[in-house]
Amino acid sequence: MEKECWICTEKFDTTKQLKSHLASSVHSKMEVGCPFCLDRPTKYKRVWELKDHCNRFHKPAMQDMRPDVLSEGNAYYLAVHPACYRKVIRPTAFYSPSARDLKKAMQAWLKKSKDTYRTPEE
Ligand SMILES: [Zn+2]
Ligand SMILES: [Zn+2]
Repeated sequence: MEKECWICTEKFDTTKQLKSHLASSVHSKMEVGCPFCLDRPTKYKRVWELKDHCNRFHKPAMQDMRPDVLSEGNAYYLAVHPACYRKVIRPTAFYSPSARDLKKAMQAWLKKSKDTYRTPEE
């Protein structure tokens, strides 16, 4: 089934291709923020880049979390453009254990970063 980018109407064969397109600098719509960098907003274009960053710089915090805490579905809660993110990635249920882990980590972060860069539903 053909997937169409709703921003520029470019067409793709798979959701995966559309996802990469949205993540690329064409749109930068799949950005996710690091829930542990509280002093300054740290954003990544892809979830795996964020995961890399967390494993490197936030190891102690990551050890308290479930291993799948930074899954694509969970990272929805870290998305800078949640409405776009949700269109190509199915968010993990908010009450699931790993989403709860993430929520815990995010409480301080959300307070701080809400007004800085997370965009409202678009
Ligand atoms: Zn596009
Ligand atoms: Zn960080």
